[in-house]
Amino acid sequence: MKFGGGCLRDGRSVAQACAIVSAQKQAAVVVSAVSGVTEMLLAAIGQARRHERHIPPVLAALEEKHLAIAAELCPSGAAQKRLRAAIASRVARVGRLLFGVACHGDLTPAVRARLLSQGERLAAQLLAGVLDSLETPAAALDARSAGLCTDGNVLAASVDRGRTRRLMRPRLAALLRRGVVPVIPGFYGRGPDGGVTLLGRNGSDYSAAAVAFALGAGRIEVWKDADGFMSADPARVPAARRLELLTFAEAAELSYFGAKVLHPRTVEPLAGTRTRVFVRNVNDPSGAGSEIAAACPGRAADVAGIAANERLAVLRVHGAGIGSKPGLLAGVSSALAESGINIHSVLTSHTCINLLLDPADAARGLRQLKSRINGVIRRVELEERLALVGVVGERIMEKEGIYARIFSAVARERINVEMAAAGASPVACYFLVRKAELDRALLAVHDEFFP
Ligand code: ASP
Ligand code: MG
Repeated sequence: MKFGGGCLRDGRSVAQACAIVSAQKQAAVVVSAVSGVTEMLLAAIGQARRHERHIPPVLAALEEKHLAIAAELCPSGAAQKRLRAAIASRVARVGRLLFGVACHGDLTPAVRARLLSQGERLAAQLLAGVLDSLETPAAALDARSAGLCTDGNVLAASVDRGRTRRLMRPRLAALLRRGVVPVIPGFYGRGPDGGVTLLGRNGSDYSAAAVAFALGAGRIEVWKDADGFMSADPARVPAARRLELLTFAEAAELSYFGAKVLHPRTVEPLAGTRTRVFVRNVNDPSGAGSEIAAACPGRAADVAGIAANERLAVLRVHGAGIGSKPGLLAGVSSALAESGINIHSVLTSHTCINLLLDPADAARGLRQLKSRINGVIRRVELEERLALVGVVGERIMEKEGIYARIFSAVARERINVEMAAAGASPVACYFLVRKAELDRALLAVHDEFFP
């Protein structure tokens, strides 16, 4: 069972999460940081770099946030005392790390990873403490000693599921046999050198899948403060409906293109398994949520869902005959990779390469590529006015007429499609429109497939 930060906000929601765990016979639990804590740590890093006087108030706020929940949910003497001590010592560790940052004025990726992972560690302690006081024996673990192994990339690690299974399975099995619920902090694991490596923002879902793979679990319940996957973002499309059943590939693509429900890599560790993933609403525990499975042969819908993403920028690289110069694309992408910039997608033609990036990387990417202007690359420009609509469904490549329906729906709204890509994934296609027209485009496509 995995609980996101959105279900760990205050005493009431933590109590709800713990009640859900206690009702289970046997479960391993993965937790995100309490809502807002990762953001607090991120801000604290920035402030600590400026001056150490900013640190004590952050520590006080962090401790208070967790202690308030502990006091509310563990009113009894000994249990509360133990939990308070665990929280205090964890916060003290955050303090030592932050003072180190202030003293250095700079921080390495390893220190950043270590600091950011503390939110999950606090949450694990909190949950285990509350479970204990509910007479559900639980143990807060360190994801590293629990055996969650990664490839060692410090800030964007990939799970090594084989090693994870070898290390983690016996450790967790020993606890489960004794009737103890292992509470594992999400979001990080151990690199090959034993250090903390982060799985990327919102990576706790991905952690949960790694744990499920290690245990050979039949199911994962991902508890959120939302109903599950929706046919579109209900904030943009009021008629959006809950998706009852979708495939691993659909869930991954919807998440990649902008659905906020799950980390896009969540289903990766589950490839080839029969583990079923249930996304459920902590505020409606008897609700059905969404189920994600390796396949869903019986489902009728052609399109599973539609995602939207405004947070993107397009870098355009112009030049004559760009499409016929061997190695050019490699040069462009390695220039970006050298500055740690991830390319979301690429569309190329004879005279232009379009790279879809995170807007936070756009200016840096532009500088990088401008420095490469030469005989072939003539001009590089940044287009920040576009947004993406991703249409996802297992049958969209197989069945005739689906693209025609997508683009006709957009055309009827007199919206111009600025770019489009299809076929890169058998279950997804996307197109770009002006940001100002995103909502109308989304509504039009949604209406077409979810009348
Ligand atoms: N707490 C981390 C984040 O906010 C990981 C997670 O929530 O899954 O990115
Ligand atoms: Mg979070």
